[in-house]
Amino acid sequence: MTALPALSPETAEALQRTRERVCALHAELTRWNLVTWTSGNISERVPGTELIVIKPSGVTYEDLTPASMVVCDLYGAPVEDGCSPSSDTDAHAYVYREMPEVGAVVHTHSTYATAWAARGEPVPCAITAMADEFGDDIPVGPFALIGGDDIGRGIVATLRGHRSPAVLMDRHGVFTIGKDAKSAVKAAVMCEDVARTVHLARQHGPVERLPQEHIDALYDRYQNVYGQRKGTAS
Ligand SMILES: [Zn+2]
Repeated sequence: MTALPALSPETAEALQRTRERVCALHAELTRWNLVTWTSGNISERVPGTELIVIKPSGVTYEDLTPASMVVCDLYGAPVEDGCSPSSDTDAHAYVYREMPEVGAVVHTHSTYATAWAARGEPVPCAITAMADEFGDDIPVGPFALIGGDDIGRGIVATLRGHRSPAVLMDRHGVFTIGKDAKSAVKAAVMCEDVARTVHLARQHGPVERLPQEHIDALYDRYQNVYGQRKGTAS
């Protein structure tokens, strides 16, 4: 392991774009106050390859550069010399191996969401914005220690077949998945936002989950109708 295997020009270009995207999106984690010091990380699949790009371990956010992003295989092993990958790489890699539809993974210890995780309590789907994005409660995954596949296994066991792109790993923090890094980061931002709102609501009285038919209707509309329609002239 000294250099990447020979890549086609297209793959080399895709890798460079992925490095730039993953590096730039880390600034969103600090912008939205989701991370403290060096905690938190983003990874994304390199399109058309069996490679992922992930944050280097222990590097502060302001020192991240596209070149410092670490390229790993789907077992979390770096494929070139350079920085060591995030200590959460095993968890990310497990998700990529088990869920081929997942294009990106984000991990944070964002305060309000992690407060729910500290209690091992799912965030109830009590507001419409939450039904839109998560389509359900934000679930809690099993307690697992870092190292090996235990965290990854818990993420996959909880999110496979679930509408929510976010899981609160018990007594740990948030993992989100998405088709690409931007959507996984969005899920991490929205997870903290709704965890905060429902927490604040709880301070002054009970919070009730929305009726299931409303959750279903809101989720369907947001996922399938909301936003700018493609291909319409205006
Ligand atoms: Zn963590």
